[in-house]
Amino acid sequence: MTDRPFVKLKNVGNKFIKIKCPDCSNEQITFTKISSPVTCMICGNTIARPTGGTLETTSEVVEDAI
Ligand SMILES: [Zn+2]
Repeated sequence: MTDRPFVKLKNVGNKFIKIKCPDCSNEQITFTKISSPVTCMICGNTIARPTGGTLETTSEVVEDAI
């Protein structure tokens, strides 16, 4: 497992998004405003974490999820 930079999402608002784990390609839905880190359900990697409300993530944002 390699360290990847966390990138804070910009202009996302309050919504659900689907992000793809960079290590195992698992796609997972999360909210853009989180209060605790999000871990991948498959490999346990931390794929998103909160920064003052809006998440920052190591993962690729696949699409908006309704
Ligand atoms: Zn994973």
